[in-house]
Amino acid sequence: MRIIKEGKKPIKEWQVTCKKCGCVFVFNNSDVHSDQREGDWVVCPTCNECIDVTHRNWLNENIKHL
Ligand SMILES: [Zn+2]
Repeated sequence: MRIIKEGKKPIKEWQVTCKKCGCVFVFNNSDVHSDQREGDWVVCPTCNECIDVTHRNWLNENIKHL
């Protein structure tokens, strides 16, 4: 196929609060580590805690979709 006008690929971002140190940061899919058994997680930039973000597309008190 041929693109006449290129569309903008939406970057999905989420805001998450680290429960361990209280750091609030924004991540996108390129920051997410994933494993079939462990699910998806991001690493807190402040304390290196692994934060589970497997259910980031669901309603979640700790993770906000931006
Ligand atoms: Zn942290």
